Amino acid sequence: MNTLIIRYTGKASLAPAAEIIRNGGLVAFPTETVYGLGANALDGEAAKKIYSAKGRPSDNPLIVHLASPRDAGKYCVVNRLFHSLAASFMPGPLTVILPKRPVIPDSVTGGLPTVGIRVPAHKTAHELISLAGVPIAAPSANLSGKPSPTSFSHIEHDLNGRVDALIDDGDCDYGVESTVVKLVGNGEIRLLRPGAVTVEMLSLICDKVTLDPCVTGKFDGVPEAPGMKYRHYAPDAPLTVLDGPDEAVYEFLKKQRRCGIICFEEDLPYLPEENVFSCGPKNDSLAQAHNLFACLRALDGARGVDVIYARLPSRVGIGLAVFNRLIKAAGFKVMKL
Ligand code: AMP
Ligand code: MG
Repeated sequence: MNTLIIRYTGKASLAPAAEIIRNGGLVAFPTETVYGLGANALDGEAAKKIYSAKGRPSDNPLIVHLASPRDAGKYCVVNRLFHSLAASFMPGPLTVILPKRPVIPDSVTGGLPTVGIRVPAHKTAHELISLAGVPIAAPSANLSGKPSPTSFSHIEHDLNGRVDALIDDGDCDYGVESTVVKLVGNGEIRLLRPGAVTVEMLSLICDKVTLDPCVTGKFDGVPEAPGMKYRHYAPDAPLTVLDGPDEAVYEFLKKQRRCGIICFEEDLPYLPEENVFSCGPKNDSLAQAHNLFACLRALDGARGVDVIYARLPSRVGIGLAVFNRLIKAAGFKVMKL
C-alpha cells in the first residue's frame, strides 16, 4: 500500500487525512499521549482494518475519540460521574468506559457492550476529528506487541506501507497511553490503566477510586476488558526490573555482560556507556513517562543486548503509569537486590 505522509503545517494540511477517514481508510495521528491509528468509529469495516494493520487481536477494544465531551451522549450512556470527570479532565488524557449505544459497531468495542470515550487535548488530533466530522476509533499506532509510538519515526517504522496516511507532527507530550477508568454507578471510579490523569487527581472528583488488580500485578482472573488479558508489548530481549538501593544496583550491573539498561539520569556516571539509556531524573516521573517507550524501542534496535535491566520507578502520580508499563513489559519480573 502506498502511504501518504502528511507533514502538519496547520489545519488545512489535514484535509486529505480527514477525507481518508470519512472514506473508510486508516490514518496515524498524534495525540498528547501517544500516536493513534484512527478510522471512522461509525464504520465497522473501517475499524476492522485497524486490527489487520496492527496485527491486533480482534477482541481488544479501541478507544473512540471525540471533539467534545458534549458529543458523548450520542455514542454511549453517560451519568453524573461522567459529567464531573469531563468537566475536570476533558479534553485530556482520560478514557472513560461507558455502556455503548447501537451506532457504535461491535468491531470497535471488540464485541463488548461498553465503549471507551476520550477527548484528546492535542491540537492536531482535535482538528482532525472536527474536520472528519465523525468520531475516530483508535488504538495506539504501533504494531501489536511493540511499545506505543511516541514520535513520528516510530509510526513510520511500524506502519509505513500498511495504512493510508501518517501525520508527522513531532513528539507526543506525555508518552504513556491515556488513563482508562470504568465507572461503577455514580459512586466509584475503577482504574483499569494508569496514565497522566492520576489516582490523586481522580480522588478529587470521587471519594472512592479503586485500582484494578491488573494495574500493579499479573492478571489471572476473568478479564473485565479484553485489553487486560494481552501482554502490552515485549522487548526483543527479556526485561527484568531491579528493586534495590543505588549501590546494590550498580554492583549487580557491573557483573552483567551483553545487557541493555534503562536507568535514571543520576545513574549514568556509575554505569557503562554502551546500551545504557536514561529515561530521566529519578524524581521526575513526567520525564520518565515521556522517554520510556523510546528507550524500549532503542534497546530493540541495539546490538549485543541479550537481556535488559531497568530501575524501579516511583509509583506516585504519573509514576504509577511508568511502573505499570515497565512491569508489563517485564512480564512482571522484578528482582529484589
Ligand atoms: P490502546 O489500543 O493501546 O490505545 O489501548 C486501548 C485500551 O483501552 C484497551 O487495551 C483497553 O484496555 C481499553 N479499552 C478500550 N475500550 C474499552 C472497553 N470498552 N472496556 C474496557 N477497556 C477498554
Ligand atoms: Mg496499545
